[in-house]
Amino acid sequence: MERLLTRCRALPVPATCNHQLSGYILRRFPHCAPGRGKRLVLSRMFQPQNLREDQVLSLEGKSDDLTCKSQRLMLQVGLIHPASSGCYHLLPYTVRAMEKLVRVIDQEMQAIGGQKVNMPSLSPAELWRATNRWDLMGKELLRLRDRHSKEYCLGPTHEEAITALVASQKTLSYKQLPFLLYQVTRKFRDEPRPRFGLLRGREFYMKDMYTFDSSPEAARQTYSLVCDAYSRLFDRLGLQCVKVQADVGSIGGTMSHEFQLPVDIGEDRFAVCPSCSFAANVETLDLSQMNCPACQGPLTETKGIEVGHTFYLGTKYSSVFNAQFINVHGKPSLAEMGCYGLGVTRILAAAIEVLSTEDCIRWPGLLAPYQVCLIPPKKGSKEEAAAELTGPLYDHIAEAVPQLRGEVLLDDRTHLTIGNRLKDANKFGYPFVIITGKRALEDPALFEVWCQNTSEVVFLTEEAVVELLSHVQVV
Ligand SMILES: [Zn+2]
Repeated sequence: MERLLTRCRALPVPATCNHQLSGYILRRFPHCAPGRGKRLVLSRMFQPQNLREDQVLSLEGKSDDLTCKSQRLMLQVGLIHPASSGCYHLLPYTVRAMEKLVRVIDQEMQAIGGQKVNMPSLSPAELWRATNRWDLMGKELLRLRDRHSKEYCLGPTHEEAITALVASQKTLSYKQLPFLLYQVTRKFRDEPRPRFGLLRGREFYMKDMYTFDSSPEAARQTYSLVCDAYSRLFDRLGLQCVKVQADVGSIGGTMSHEFQLPVDIGEDRFAVCPSCSFAANVETLDLSQMNCPACQGPLTETKGIEVGHTFYLGTKYSSVFNAQFINVHGKPSLAEMGCYGLGVTRILAAAIEVLSTEDCIRWPGLLAPYQVCLIPPKKGSKEEAAAELTGPLYDHIAEAVPQLRGEVLLDDRTHLTIGNRLKDANKFGYPFVIITGKRALEDPALFEVWCQNTSEVVFLTEEAVVELLSHVQVV
C-alpha cells in the first residue's frame, strides 16, 4: 500500500490524489491507480480503421490509375483522409510520424548551423513580380486577392520572401555569414492532376532552407555541407536515396541536385552509371547518347520520387532585392545564395511506398508513430488468466525506458481475438508488438514479441522485454 501511495503521489494530476487507495477512491479518481490515466489505449484513438479497398477508392472518387500502394494503405488504416482534390487531413498517427521527421530534420539542419524561421504562406504579388516569377510560374501558382484587391499567392517556395527579409537587414557584416535559414511549413501548388495521395498533392509540408554567403567559394562549401546533411538524414531514416544532377527549372541558378528515392511509381527518371558515381536526371542528358559523360560506360535508367532538391543560386535573387552585406573591404556586396528543399509529407509517403508490403505499412524505425503495441488476451479466452500481466508490463516499460514514454499503445479491444488484433498491428507497422498469450500462463510468464523490422518472433520474460526495448532509438 505504501508503494502504491508513493507512486500515486508521483502522478502529475490532480493535487487531490493523496487519498487512501480504497476501491471507492479508485473509482472516483482512476488516475490514483498506478500508471492509470497514463496508459494510451487504442479504443480511445481517433483512428478510422480497416476500410475495404472499394471504400478507399470511393473515398477518393478516383479511378485506379491515380492511386498507389502508400496512398491506399494510408487511407485504409486511417493515416490520412481526403478533404478535397489533392488535399488531405493528416490524422493523429501521421502527425506523430511527421513531428518525428521534423525533429530529425531540425537535428540535421541545426548541426550545420541552420536557424529556424517561419514565413507567412500569403506571399504578396509584388515580390513575385520583381523576379518575374508571377508570370513564369503560370497556373501552378495559387493566386488570391484580399478585400483591398491586393494580390497574393499561397507560397510554393520562398526565395523572394526570404531574400527581401534578409535585404531589409541593412547592417549585415561578412563576419556574420553564412546564414542558413530554414522553415518547415505548408506549401501550395495548383497541380493540374493531383495523384498518389501525399506524393503529389496541392497542399503539402516542405522544409525549405535558404543560405547566404559572402563569396561563391563559401557558397559552394555551404552547398556541399547541406547536401551531406541531406545524405545523413536519409541514412538515418534507412532510405537509399540517390543524389543526381538536376535541371534548375523555374528556381534558376547554376547548379542543382535532386535526391531521388528509387521506386517504380516514381514520376522522375534518372540515369546512373554502374561503373562510376555519376547519376543525373534524364532531363539533363542528351538522350541520343546514353553513355556516362564521366567514364563513357553505358548508363542504366531508373524511376524515382524526388524527395529533396538543392540549388546553387548565386546572386539571381540577391541582385533583385539588393540583399547585401558589408565585405572585408568595408564595401557593400551581394550575398551568394543557395536554396534547399525537402518534401516532408512526401518523404513520409515515399518511405511507406518503398518499405511496405502490399497489405502492411512499414515505417523507418525512427518515424513509427508508436514504437510498441501491447495486446492483452481476449475476454473469455483460455489465456484470460494472464490478462492482468499486460498493465504492469506497460507501466514497467514506461518506468524503465524513459524514451518510450508516450510510445506504447495498449490494444484494449479485448472483445477481439489476439489474432485479429495482431493482424491490425501488422497493418499499422508498430516496430514491436507484444502479446500476452498462452505462454504468459507459464512460470515465469513469457510474452510473445514480434519485432517487425527484423521479422523475428521471440518469447521473453518481462525483464527481457524491458531490456530489449531499452535499446530502441526514439527521436
Ligand atoms: Zn561512369
